[in-house]
Amino acid sequence: MEKSFLSQPALDREILSSDGLTRKFLLRLNDGQVIETVLMGYDARHTVCVSTQAGCAMGCVFCATGQMGFVRHLRPGEIIAQVLHAKRVLHEMNPKARLRNLVMMGMGEPLHNIDAVHHALATISDVRGISIGPSKIAISTVGVVPGILRMASENWPYRLAVSLHGSTEDERASLVPASKRWNLESLIDTCRHYGSTTGKRIFFEWTLIAGKNDSPETATRLADLLKGIDAHINLIPLNPTGGFSGTASPSGVQFQKILRNAGFPCTFRQRRGIDVAAGCGMLKAEKRARMGA
Ligand code: SF4
Repeated sequence: MEKSFLSQPALDREILSSDGLTRKFLLRLNDGQVIETVLMGYDARHTVCVSTQAGCAMGCVFCATGQMGFVRHLRPGEIIAQVLHAKRVLHEMNPKARLRNLVMMGMGEPLHNIDAVHHALATISDVRGISIGPSKIAISTVGVVPGILRMASENWPYRLAVSLHGSTEDERASLVPASKRWNLESLIDTCRHYGSTTGKRIFFEWTLIAGKNDSPETATRLADLLKGIDAHINLIPLNPTGGFSGTASPSGVQFQKILRNAGFPCTFRQRRGIDVAAGCGMLKAEKRARMGA
């Protein structure tokens, strides 16, 4: 039986969004690294967004974590500790509230730290433990093909979200450098394989960036690309980060309409926590301790 060592990270700072629905925690780990965890309340449902690495090696150009670079993988206990922290805070706010959902969309690429993620999720989803249902857990990847293949072959019970952002090799490579390693064609082939092997729907994430990937032609190409895959497309208006000059699309309604007309469920991600830099792609440890320094 695998063991995780849990130590409660110190709370460096907690920031509450102006609408009171999003709390960002800066948690300090034993070696001084600071990571971010976000607790979001949607009606009665509460979701925790956890980090899986300090920093990230994938370098997505519009993402604050990608802009800071890779520092280190988190250990299973450090992933679990974030969920326990969010649960504690939620309990203090409202003893009846339940933490229902978990998304791995914080700092880091989960499938680049796949063994620790696998180990942590086994504990988090265990009914004798934190007991968040596997179907309420989403792993978000930028397209690490070997990790998706492992999820398929081992039939992981969690949901898979794939950040796509581009409908051609060039369009995607200009936003997601990792696509030079796992190109769009191999990623889509892998998603087809995942869908047919597991029978599960895949959630595709698409950050809408004005003039970059928000044209009707791109939407049509995307619909062609995903043809035959049980796919749900989540549109995310770009959140601002210091290191990227792109801007959010003025409206993605036409983009959404094209995908819906092609038969895909397509929704806009609710924007949460923008004023406290807790939205998608905005997480970056504000006080970064140097490894080994
Ligand atoms: S979007 Fe995700 S995978 Fe890309 S750099 Fe940011 S944290 Fe890493």
